[in-house]
Formats: sequence, C-alpha cells, structure tokens
Amino acid sequence: MNAQKVLSDLKRRFPNEPEYHQAVAEVLSTIEEAYNEHPEFDRYNLIERLCIPDRIFSFRVTWVDDKGQVQTNMGYRVQHNNAIGPYKGGIRFHSSVNLSILKFLAFEQTFKNSLTTLPMGGGKGGSDFSPRGKSDGEIMRFCQAFVAELWRHIGPETDVPAGDIGVGGREVGYMYGMYKKMARENTGTFTGKGLEFGGSLIRPEATGYGNVYFLLEMLKTRNIDIKGKVVAVSGSGNVAQYTVEKLISLGAKVITMSDSNGYIYDPDGIDAEKLAYIFELKNIYRGRIREYAEKYGCKYVEGARPWNEKCDIAMPSATQNEIDGDDARALLANGCFAVSEGANMPSTPEAIEEFLKAKILYAPGKAANAGGVSVSGLEMTQNAIKLSWTKEEVDARLKQIMFDIHTQCVKYGTQADGYVNYVKGANVAGFMKVAKAMMAQGIL
Ligand code: NDP
Repeated sequence: MNAQKVLSDLKRRFPNEPEYHQAVAEVLSTIEEAYNEHPEFDRYNLIERLCIPDRIFSFRVTWVDDKGQVQTNMGYRVQHNNAIGPYKGGIRFHSSVNLSILKFLAFEQTFKNSLTTLPMGGGKGGSDFSPRGKSDGEIMRFCQAFVAELWRHIGPETDVPAGDIGVGGREVGYMYGMYKKMARENTGTFTGKGLEFGGSLIRPEATGYGNVYFLLEMLKTRNIDIKGKVVAVSGSGNVAQYTVEKLISLGAKVITMSDSNGYIYDPDGIDAEKLAYIFELKNIYRGRIREYAEKYGCKYVEGARPWNEKCDIAMPSATQNEIDGDDARALLANGCFAVSEGANMPSTPEAIEEFLKAKILYAPGKAANAGGVSVSGLEMTQNAIKLSWTKEEVDARLKQIMFDIHTQCVKYGTQADGYVNYVKGANVAGFMKVAKAMMAQGIL
C-alpha cells in the first residue's frame, strides 16, 4: 500500500469530505507498515474495501412542528463494515451532520468495535435535525418520522443503532418504539434503551466511566495516582457527565465543563452536589452551562474552549476537532501530561502531533471511548439471552474490556524507546482483526 496514493484517490472520488479524509489519513499513516507485511492484503485491495463504506442510505425526513408547519431534514445511515459482526454505531442529531462527518464516524467505529473484543461491525447514522429548543412532542414526531424510513435497513442481526450527540435515552426510546411498530418484533434492535424495555444497567455511564478506566490504565504505566489531579473536561452531555462523576468518586478535581456556547471554570472543583445540578440542568431543563456559573459564582467564558486553563489531565468530551494545535501547545505549556478522548476525533492532526512529540500519555477516542459501544454490545447479549445482568456484573465486564483494549494498544503501539503510541496501537490492533476477517470471508 502507498498510503499517500490511497488517500489522494479517496479525495478525488469523494471531494468535500474533510472529516472523512482526516480520519482515513490518521489510520493509513499508522497501519502502513503492518499492512505491508502482508502482501496478500494488497492483492485483495483490502485497503480500499476497508476505507469505503459498504453502503450508505440517505432519505428525506418529513415532520410537523408545533405550529403546524411541515419541516424537512435529511436522514442517513452509513453501513461501513460488517466483517466481524452486525453494523453497530450511534445516531447523531445535530445541525452540522453531513455525510463527511458520518463517514468519518462510521470508519472510526469499525476499528473501535474491533478493539472491544465483541462481535460488532461499524456503522453510524444521523440527521441535520437540531434538537435544541424543540418541544418533547416535536422530538417524538421527528424520531418517528426518521425511523419510518430507517427501520427497513436495520435489525438485531443486521444493524443496531444507538445514541450519540443529540440522541440520548429519550430519543432512543421514541425511535425504538416506532421501530417495534414497523418491524413487528421485539428483539432490541437499538441499544441505550430504557431499563424497563431491554436496556442495560451502566449503559448511560459506560462511555464516561470507560474513558476514566482507560485513563487509569495509562496512569499506571507511569505510577501516577489520579487522586488530587486537576482535570479539564469539555462538553456537558452524556459522556462528560459520567466522566466527571467517576473522576470525582476517585478524588480528582474537575475544574471545567462546557457546551457549544462556552465553558465554566470552577477553581474549587465540581463536587457531587454541583454535578447533580448539571445533570438536572442538562437532562431535565435542557439549559445552558452558563447557568452553572451564575448559580455558583464562578468564571464563564463565552465562545471559547477550556484548554487554556491549567490542568494535569484533559478529557475532551464534546465533539470533533475541538483541540487544535494552539490548544495542544497551551495544554502542554501548562503542564498537562495526559489526554484521554471521550469524544470522537476531538484532536486535530496538528494537536495529535504535538502530544506525540511531547510523549505525554495520549489516548485516541477509538480506544478511550470504546466503553460506550462495549456496553451496547453487552446490551445486545442480554437481549439475545433475555436476561439482565446486575450493575456490578456489567461494570466488571466494562473494566475488563477497557483493560484489554489498553493491553492491545501497548502490544501494538510500544516504540523502541518504550513510549506507547496509543494512536498506532489502537489503529493496528483494530485493523488486523477486521483485515483477517475480511480475508477469510472472500471478496465481497
Ligand atoms: P451529548 O449530545 O449528550 O453532549 C454533547 C456535548 O457536547 C454537549 O455539551 C454539547 O453542547 C457539546 N457539543 C456538541 N457539539 C458541539 C460543538 N460543535 N461545539 C462545542 N460543543 C459541542 O453527546 P454525547 O455526550 O453522547 O457525545 C459527546 C462526544 O462523545 C461525541 O463526539 C460523540 O461522538 C462521542 N461518543 C459518545 C458516545 C456515547 O455513548 N454517547 C460513545 C462514544 C463516543 P450543546 O448542548 O450546546 O450542543
């Protein structure tokens, strides 16, 4: 494989998809060596077959707002690769959603799901519908209209969607309800469902908790204790909330959280009581993070990200490309020694280069945030055997999976000088399993 040529061909065939190009470029640059050790891969053109999604569905979603006005949005499902299991990946509702973003997410998901050790392929879907400011009735009607189109392409052994930005328990509930009605079956085709109808304990917590478990494994390699460490977190949604919850329980001090309008800086640290306020603010009242600063009298910075604040550890948990080169340099100048990504692709290529050059502990999202899809996989297992596991059992499995992912990253990412390049480790480990499965199954 000539990585540069593969990338330039993809750019020519799929122009104007910068996020997709960015995700592919990162993987190609790290797997080239391992790939070229297997000449048979090239003969089977494995790389193009792995980079280009199996198929993409796109459709119009028509719904009626509270004023009686008919609205349209675009809906998509990218089924990227199912070599090791049914397509699996979340649904994102955000005004920025387009095919470039969903293709990058589905591509990354394929490697992430491979790393989890569970039998899941990669996919992703979503809509440019923005849930911000919408009533509960509007959200429900949109979800139903979205699934009225999507349902025919998904199923418990075909493609199993879940949540992502703008899609939490409420939206999964509405989508699953409509899916059941259309498909006339009750097999748990979505994950992230409510506990009363097939959901798994620990699924809401899984991405955030899993990221902290991964961070702990990284810290262990340098004999660093999490207790008392100052952590900057971005976002204030599902991933950020449970990241902060776990960090507080372990004695770390979380000083920032954010939303798309700005960030709060609380030098005293967000404690359990203040976090309970954020859960209520974000999940029930659906308010803005600014209100935290008003309530607790701390600093709020409009239109900015938290990476200029001094911290030991950064855990970006909002969205893609939220740490650029300047942010990375600011973090490093302030003494940050670990970055563990809750969000997908939150660091730009320039930021990643800075982290690797500085040889800090740096975990890419496809390893560090894999806890969410892992517990989704466990939810599928519980649905299939029609049993529910206890909180302790699911949490123990999650810990074990994050430990195993860390071990794989160390195995494939340790350099001659002993530094663990987790980007390379995650990409090579994820890639090899999918590649071997594709080779074994013939040319498809
Ligand atoms: P939520 O919708 O629950 O929360 C997203 C948070 O990020 C909100 O605080 C939101 O602010 C903020 N945000 C979203 N878009 C932007 C933006 N363009 N600029 C600045 N802030 C933004 O989503 P999740 O917590 O589920 O997802 C967060 C990240 O984690 C995403 O990258 C997602 O792909 C990734 N992830 C999620 C998993 C899951 O299980 N949910 C699993 C693995 C990864 P606002 O409220 O203002 O929009």
